[in-house]
Amino acid sequence: MSALLTDRLTAGAATGPRLAVDLDAIATNTRTFAARTPGALMAVVKADGFGHGASAVARTALAHGASWLGVTSIGEALALRADGLRAPVLSWLNPVDADFVAAVGSGVDVAVPSLAHLEAVTRAGIGARVHLHLDTGMARDGAAPSEWPALCRAARRAERSGVLRVVGVMGHLGCADVPDDPANAAGRTAYAWGLGVARAAGLRPPLRHLAATAATLTDPAALHTMSRVGAGLVGIDPSGTTRLSPALTLTAPAVGTRRVVAGTSVGYGHDWHAGRPTTLALLPLGYADGLPRSTGGRAEVWLAGRRRPVVGRVSMDQVVVDLGDDAVLPGTVATVFGPGHHGEPTVAEWAAWAGTIEHEIVTGIGARVARS
Ligand SMILES: *Cc1c(COP(=O)(O)O)cnc(C)c1O
Repeated sequence: MSALLTDRLTAGAATGPRLAVDLDAIATNTRTFAARTPGALMAVVKADGFGHGASAVARTALAHGASWLGVTSIGEALALRADGLRAPVLSWLNPVDADFVAAVGSGVDVAVPSLAHLEAVTRAGIGARVHLHLDTGMARDGAAPSEWPALCRAARRAERSGVLRVVGVMGHLGCADVPDDPANAAGRTAYAWGLGVARAAGLRPPLRHLAATAATLTDPAALHTMSRVGAGLVGIDPSGTTRLSPALTLTAPAVGTRRVVAGTSVGYGHDWHAGRPTTLALLPLGYADGLPRSTGGRAEVWLAGRRRPVVGRVSMDQVVVDLGDDAVLPGTVATVFGPGHHGEPTVAEWAAWAGTIEHEIVTGIGARVARS
């Protein structure tokens, strides 16, 4: 059992966990991508702008070189419209019974990956703007190459009848984060074939887009008339080739501290034992707030001028930090991650501790964390 030499738990700190978004960093990143994109730049703001706030990222990107917005669902596109964003928006992943009527009514372009989707969009009424979506090698979203010629012919028939316009053709590369992976050349070839088939069917789509963040940074041959960039705008470079600016800082105030004797066990399962008398600080955020439970035993935070290890398991709502013989006042704010300029851990480090990618960390911050 632990003997409490001091126990300074407070009833609650003045402020709780907080996620700050640096829109200047997003502006800087957007300019980097605009300069590297010969065609148009689409700001991909799916998943709430990769956890950074979809509308804020969208507005910032549009002010610094992006001219398009991209999201997966029609719901996300309509939320941007409701927030006053009037730029062109593409939604590319929807079930066949999605609200294409609302999309067309709000001027939202939709991707069409199958004949069933083409029929659904055709039924939505006059005026749809569609981007035919080809699977260029991931066996994920987009039409299988075997279905592509029929899809192009049917889309051309619909276009000639005046019910819709095919304004784009899109593909996506599955291995662009590894620039010399042969799958990239295969994906580019598949996309070029898809463009040729569309052209032979009589389609003349001005928006031809294959590259996302990694290909835009490393593979000029993948650039057509538009790039769809999400991760890069928020400072994540999957290719590891380019210095970008991370935009998130996650902080939490110490709820309190306690002095414990050597041998004290901490947290669920008593996974960690104090090897000496030490001071522990309690932070009020855990895996429900986006700190992966799998980081237990590896993670660190910045608190009172130093990195401090997170000790014991990450709980749903809280973590414990080892301060050694240092003391902090309750309410002292810890930096869980930030850009790394002052020694604090980065999102990239949290991703490494969790055995995942930065994308999963930034999109996983829980709803009860205050945003600013
Ligand atoms: C998420 C996504 C993007 C953006 O990719 P990043 O690597 O984050 O730039 C582009 N296209 C499609 C189809 C996507 O799903």
